[in-house]
Amino acid sequence: MPESLYDVLGVSKSASADEIKKAYRKLARRYHPDTNAGDKGAEERFKQVQTAYDVLSDGDKRKAYDRFGSTNGRGPTAGPGGVNVDFGDLGDLGDILGGIFGNIGGTAARGGRRGRQQAVRGADVETEVRLSFEDSLKGAEAKVPVELTVACSECGGTGAQPGTAPVICPECNGRGVKAESQGLFALSTPCPRCRGNGTVIEQPCAACKGSGRERRLRTYTVKIKPGVKDGTKIRLKGKGEAGAHGGPNGDLVVITRVAKSETYERRGDDLVVQVPVSFPTAALGGKVDVPTPEGTVSLKIPSGSEDGKLLRIKGRGAPKLSGHGKGDVLARVRIQVPKRVNKKERELLEELQKVVG
Ligand SMILES: [Zn+2]
Ligand SMILES: [Zn+2]
Repeated sequence: MPESLYDVLGVSKSASADEIKKAYRKLARRYHPDTNAGDKGAEERFKQVQTAYDVLSDGDKRKAYDRFGSTNGRGPTAGPGGVNVDFGDLGDLGDILGGIFGNIGGTAARGGRRGRQQAVRGADVETEVRLSFEDSLKGAEAKVPVELTVACSECGGTGAQPGTAPVICPECNGRGVKAESQGLFALSTPCPRCRGNGTVIEQPCAACKGSGRERRLRTYTVKIKPGVKDGTKIRLKGKGEAGAHGGPNGDLVVITRVAKSETYERRGDDLVVQVPVSFPTAALGGKVDVPTPEGTVSLKIPSGSEDGKLLRIKGRGAPKLSGHGKGDVLARVRIQVPKRVNKKERELLEELQKVVG
């Protein structure tokens, strides 16, 4: 019959705080490693005494231990391997016990005390969404499939076969570390049995093989603002990988991949468009039609415009992501040289040639 923590200290279940303290002092002196050098049995006993005292000297922990002892029917045990606890159906008590067993171990573990497992934020997940150039200007709604690691639906993420539960690691009493007391110093290493988790799974969940996780395809609908560029990152808070130990979820980062336009070249929020202009119009001035995302605009070409000149059409470019206003359309003058000319054109050009050389 394994001992209870009360048995370890040799006190009754109704012992007062004072009695517990006295019993602890007596036993701690008797089994202290300094006075029992090399005696493994004494060392083991010393640790058990520490463990028992850490729990029973703390009102809340003692209450939880007492309550727990009567709720799972197995009774708390403090065998040679330490305290063996079943978390089944305990709800909040699991938290309290996490508090207890995260802190037991006394001086031997002080160097490497782990406490509650630290909350870890889930990882961010990146994915790409492809857009036509037109949609990048107008805005769009895209369905984005993302493969995420989520809690196993069979075991609810515990990794234990449904109907069973992970148990406190008997090797380290749930501390996740093994502590070796060497006189004044305490060395601690991650527990080899539970790999630092503090709990072990006796019957792993068949669906996830004990990992507690599964890959699941989720589809999110992402609102894409008008004006996104190729490579714009849209962050969806909390839609990334799940956090661990109560940590927040990571984010989903959607990167827009915008197809090239045959008409426009994007430059910041401005759109550059090539505009063919005849030689006479470039020389004398005139009007040409320029495409913009919201329809054709008639643009005045000043006389004497050179090839490559940029003419600005204000406020007709890409919407600014800030939501305020738009960039411009930059019309680049491309002077057209006729490849073939008719009789009339030839006469006129020859006339001109005589004048300008
Ligand atoms: Zn599972
Ligand atoms: Zn362990």
